[in-house]
Amino acid sequence: MIKVPYLDLRVKSPERKKKLLNAVDVVLSHGRLILGPEVGQFEEKIAASCHTKYAVGVGSGTDALYLALRSLDIGPGDEVITTPLSWIATVNAIVLCGATPVFVDIGEDMNINAELIEDAITDKTKAILPVHYTGRLCNMEKIVQIAKEKDLYIVEDAAQAFGANIDGAMAGSFGEVSAFSMNAMKVFNAYGEAGAVVTSNEVLANKLRSLSYGGTIKKEDCHYPSLNGRMDTIQAAMLLISMEYLEAKITRRREIAKYYTDALKVVIACPEEDGTFQVYYNYVVRTDKRDQLKSYLDTKGVETKIHYPILMPFHTAYKEQNSNCDLPVAKRVVNEILSIPNHEDMSDGEVEYVANCIRDFCSD
Ligand SMILES: *Cc1c(COP(=O)(O)O)cnc(C)c1O
Repeated sequence: MIKVPYLDLRVKSPERKKKLLNAVDVVLSHGRLILGPEVGQFEEKIAASCHTKYAVGVGSGTDALYLALRSLDIGPGDEVITTPLSWIATVNAIVLCGATPVFVDIGEDMNINAELIEDAITDKTKAILPVHYTGRLCNMEKIVQIAKEKDLYIVEDAAQAFGANIDGAMAGSFGEVSAFSMNAMKVFNAYGEAGAVVTSNEVLANKLRSLSYGGTIKKEDCHYPSLNGRMDTIQAAMLLISMEYLEAKITRRREIAKYYTDALKVVIACPEEDGTFQVYYNYVVRTDKRDQLKSYLDTKGVETKIHYPILMPFHTAYKEQNSNCDLPVAKRVVNEILSIPNHEDMSDGEVEYVANCIRDFCSD
């Protein structure tokens, strides 16, 4: 039987492995293992790709989100509007700042429903934190308009969306400050943990550097209690190599996505093409027989995932304060979503096999 893993993080290309090992070798020789020169090079490339003035390399996407909110002085008494459907890091970052998350339902695109945001704004609202779920941009035109009108910050959780754009306007460039994750699973991946924050505001960029260094100025005097969120030079060096392969990776993911959509849209709900450039961190199909489809694909050797099985407001840590959240679309969709393999190393044969298995399931 064919086995199709959801993701395979082994480096199979000998050429790429050699480049990565060389990059590590260089770092081991110069010995500047934290915030070394490769971190600066990485930051320059990230800012250039995102069309922002500054980027600050940090330890993880969670760090990036937390530090982004802290840089805007978001804290106790403040409300931050976000989506219920994301990796839990999104809401953890808000809560760890001391702020209160306010959940707005998603739309059929599985991103925050921008039409519902205004109703959730109170005099405590400080920021809107949209998440580009699966690497598909939220309705940023509307969100930017609301933020302007109501004088709110936008902090993008662009963890899944590096490279996503609408007519060249890049994920990460809409927010006052935006957060990326480059952990090993992301499309733009490190070989371990890594993240970045981008902004075009110099004051915020300096504050982010300080906040990611224990809140210190000149590595000496602490001005704001904070964490250690510094970036490893080895990860930055490997990310610079990763970046060389990124465009081809995204192209292949989009090709696989197109194949899936063409083959499957008549039998199951597929992600829609909406005129934005999506990077397909995950390719998510939807069916009310999700659990049966997942089991069926298991028996066929096709590994699938659910991103995410629990809506953020209803995790054990948060469910008590959110028991009254009215999120009808999210509550339905969370039981329908299934992420199917779409990584760049898949052969055409594997992609066809996955699509055929799903067609077989749907025709029974
Ligand atoms: C991966 C991810 C994060 C967290 O990033 P880490 O690098 O794992 O800390 C945050 N938000 C979203 C939407 C993510 O997918």
